[in-house]
Amino acid sequence: MNCTKCKTKAVIDLPRHNAAFCKGCFNVFVHDQTAKAIKSQKMFGKDDRILVAVSGGKDSLALWDILLKLGYKADALYVNLGIGAYSEESHRKVTKFAETTAAAHGATLHVHTVQEEAGAGIKELAQLIHRPACSTCGTIKRYQFNRVALEHKYDVMATGHNLDDEAARLLGNVLRWQEEYLDKQAPSLPASLEGFAKKVKPLYRLSERELAAYSVLNRIDYIVEECPMAKGARTILYKEVLNRLETESPGTKQAFYWGFLDKQSKPEAAPTTMAERDQASLHPCSVCQQPTTAEVCSYCKMMARAKTHSASSCPPV
Ligand code: SF4
Ligand SMILES: [Zn+2]
Ligand SMILES: [Zn+2]
Repeated sequence: MNCTKCKTKAVIDLPRHNAAFCKGCFNVFVHDQTAKAIKSQKMFGKDDRILVAVSGGKDSLALWDILLKLGYKADALYVNLGIGAYSEESHRKVTKFAETTAAAHGATLHVHTVQEEAGAGIKELAQLIHRPACSTCGTIKRYQFNRVALEHKYDVMATGHNLDDEAARLLGNVLRWQEEYLDKQAPSLPASLEGFAKKVKPLYRLSERELAAYSVLNRIDYIVEECPMAKGARTILYKEVLNRLETESPGTKQAFYWGFLDKQSKPEAAPTTMAERDQASLHPCSVCQQPTTAEVCSYCKMMARAKTHSASSCPPV
């Protein structure tokens, strides 16, 4: 198998593009796809300061790597969730990348440790407030991402969601006709309030397999294990189903998600989107000033509940 571009030995085949690439041409392909996503969705420019959410996994570290190599000003935030060996290992991988590749580009890593602020890791915190671990985690990560972006004046927040993530999420939303979530699936979402950063997903044109290959070929040391809390998540099933379809018919995932984006971009598709309606009703939280539709934001409510529960579970003195 030879490279479609330069005819030397190929290291990866891409059936959905009817192509195969050597390492050099594959890197160009990955960088081009990301650049195309940034430009076509008007995500950010060379003067914008970007905050990348990194987890230690292949997608987010590859995103940080690609943005730095494309010449963008990209720092990162890592949230240590306090999930035993998984968090220790992912923290090590992120630190290693930050101290080598990112430091060589002059980029900074911000770290937030859930245990330090909440007094417990995600699992214990979720049990304490009787909420599923992943929804507790989502609230904390969104909150810390917004907080760091605001405090350090970043213009854009970027996440490593790839084509597989977005296609699986779309399938889940369509299967249950969760229309209220559909218009929040855009790869570029405006700031929720004046002064806050917008949210973008520059890897939506690249598949999980392509990003794993990019990370391996470029010696990015990432955590291979999934978060243990992800076990049994419906998204994993949706990804398996989409992978079956992709094997039988290459290009299915991109046709599904990109087709949805095409329809969504037509002005007649959504005269007033849910995101716009939400934006209109947002105001600063009375405790922490982050944007919320309620008087007090969900993070502050969660922390207050955690404090009440941990206080009431203390033995009497
Ligand atoms: S699987 Fe759940 S707990 Fe783990 S990182 Fe994802 S959202 Fe957080
Ligand atoms: Zn080549
Ligand atoms: Zn708040």
